[in-house]
Amino acid sequence: MIEDIARQNIFDIKPYIPGKPIEEVERELGITNIIKMASNENPFGPSPKALEAMKEALPKVSLYPDGNCFYLREALAGKIGVEMDNIIVGNGSDEILKLIAETFLNPEDEVIIARPSFSEYEFVGKIMAANCVFVPLKDFTHDLEAMGEAVTEKTKIIFVCNPNNPTGTIVTKKEMEQFLKKLPPQILVVFDEAYYEYVDHEDYPETLEYVGEEQNVITLRTFSKIYGIAGQRIGYGVAKPRVISALNRVREPFNVNMLAQVGALAALKDEDHVKRSLEGNREGKEYLYRWFDEKGLFYVPTQSNFIFLQVGVDSQELFQNMLQEGVIVRTGDIFGHPDYIRVTIGTMEENKRFTSTLEKVLKDIK
Ligand SMILES: *Cc1c(COP(=O)(O)O)cnc(C)c1O
Repeated sequence: MIEDIARQNIFDIKPYIPGKPIEEVERELGITNIIKMASNENPFGPSPKALEAMKEALPKVSLYPDGNCFYLREALAGKIGVEMDNIIVGNGSDEILKLIAETFLNPEDEVIIARPSFSEYEFVGKIMAANCVFVPLKDFTHDLEAMGEAVTEKTKIIFVCNPNNPTGTIVTKKEMEQFLKKLPPQILVVFDEAYYEYVDHEDYPETLEYVGEEQNVITLRTFSKIYGIAGQRIGYGVAKPRVISALNRVREPFNVNMLAQVGALAALKDEDHVKRSLEGNREGKEYLYRWFDEKGLFYVPTQSNFIFLQVGVDSQELFQNMLQEGVIVRTGDIFGHPDYIRVTIGTMEENKRFTSTLEKVLKDIK
């Protein structure tokens, strides 16, 4: 049997549950005019400058891309104030998570993960047959103290999702520094900052400052969220050159496609688009907060572009009913909160359609 020759640990991997794609809902339900508020993409779309740059580069797809992402790393280095050899670019930050696991984890090594948090950490740990140690959130936030206490001699990697997906909460600079101070320096701390650009909290740590210190750390960011090119698959990591060069040994030579590199470079320079997206997000967030408050619904205040909302009914049922109305959200059961949903803050039109649909569906269920 084929299962006998597969590595046994892969049967331990739980399949990733993605946000339901619009096309799939169209196919299955035969409806149109669907909105997806399930995967935290930018509802305002990609930067027009990125689109233009990608269109222009399209005829060059017969050639292999630059395997070193030279121009993008150069622009990133300038923008965030590090050297080019501090940066690795990946086919989404998902790929970098996997490279980290492949580079550092032997079977039985331990990784520490908050719960609930982004499911990719468990996925990449299990591929390598590492032991995943889960530490529950406290008040919907990483419990860094408990995560520090979970460290053993076998601990290799600690994942800190900041802001955390699915709760949108952050750990503060003070909490982070107290946590780092007590860690054995060889442990690699992964700061997943997919929503970095959305944060407006003054106590948010600037983790790039830790890159030059003794502690092994890597900060991951992405072009999938505020930069609006999730479909292109591109993200980056910032770490000491020795960490980066270890990761580069495992990286595929042409891991990032050419259009993604060109699109990301243009998106990075389009500060207007980032600003507009931030303003739209703030406006949407205020609208949704007000509506939830009026209806007496509890939500976790967010530092990102999504909200973890207590709907007070079975989220699977609510999800299915919302789907019938053409609104895709994410159920909380997969995050251990069966009466919550995670909803991406959309355009104002999407937000209004979401609230009116939610109101109708909640009445139907109750
Ligand atoms: C969306 C997201 C990512 C981004 O993944 P990409 O592979 O860059 O698209 C990474 N981490 C978290 C927590 C996310 O929510």
